[in-house]
Amino acid sequence: MKTAQVSGNKIVIKEVSNIRLNDRKGAILKVLGSGLCGSDIVKFRENIVSDGTVLGHEIVGIIEEINSETSFQKGDRIVTSHHIPCGKCDYCRHGNVSMCEHFKSTNIIPGGFSEYVFISEEHLQNVAYKVPQNITNEIISFYEPLGCCIRAIKRCDLLPEDKVLVIGLGSIGLLMGEGLKALGYKVYGCDLIPERIELANSFGIESFNSYDISDFSKLIVEKSGGINAVFMTSGADKALDVALCSVNKGGKILVFSSTPKNSGYPNNEIYYKELTVLGSYSPSPKDLKESYDMLCSGKVNVKGITTVYTLENIQKAFEDTIGNKIFKAYISIGEI
Ligand SMILES: [Zn+2]
Ligand SMILES: [Zn+2]
Repeated sequence: MKTAQVSGNKIVIKEVSNIRLNDRKGAILKVLGSGLCGSDIVKFRENIVSDGTVLGHEIVGIIEEINSETSFQKGDRIVTSHHIPCGKCDYCRHGNVSMCEHFKSTNIIPGGFSEYVFISEEHLQNVAYKVPQNITNEIISFYEPLGCCIRAIKRCDLLPEDKVLVIGLGSIGLLMGEGLKALGYKVYGCDLIPERIELANSFGIESFNSYDISDFSKLIVEKSGGINAVFMTSGADKALDVALCSVNKGGKILVFSSTPKNSGYPNNEIYYKELTVLGSYSPSPKDLKESYDMLCSGKVNVKGITTVYTLENIQKAFEDTIGNKIFKAYISIGEI
């Protein structure tokens, strides 16, 4: 089978021997496609993963072979995420499921950018769902990223009709905005790239250019009457300044992106304005279920965000994403 592997500063297609179920519990999926996640880009660009790693985890596939206690059957088109929390450890009990050791150790094998993958019985039991016929592979590939957004939103514990600002209007910013809208909040957005601002506005996220931070913060305070929470989907240099100038006293800043370097801790802003700063990384099975329901019911709109690439063209998908040429890449793998 073909896999796309990290090899230095390239992604190369390598033929490896077919993955087999043997006597394991779980399933072999024929991968139909996989979204290219921002975290895949970071792992590749920052050389965090070793050569031979197969990235990709936002997968949709067809069950090719199965040995499971669940009701899934051969031929089912399913979506799954990659990690499962234990639910019992100290991290899990405090709601920090993505810090759970078991969560980090579970995965789809070898990774989503592959013609076939193995998923365990635990995946089938906790984070896999059958995809309704009317939902496309591209749409359902937002299952895991939207789950991440839902978890971030829930962590902010907002009040109904709170006003929120999304900083960074790339694919994850749009998705965050869509999730926030679906949950009933008034969403504003900002970015520095005009095309992104335009697309966000077409999604109903009232968005502006935040190039001039003081002009922007005045405008956003005037428009909103006070931003209750800021969602940082951008790790750009000035993003934290934009957040601090825009958030209301007593507000929340949700950190949802890595930055190239630690940019300093705004102690006095947090203290005098009684701000709450929260981080949010990966979703729990409950957030994923909510994401699945939202995508299947059409409550969130993800149309027009993705650009499709073939597995052979995956290097270009990485390059175009890094070069900000596209919003979100979807790698079509086994689709006819
Ligand atoms: Zn992802
Ligand atoms: Zn745990």
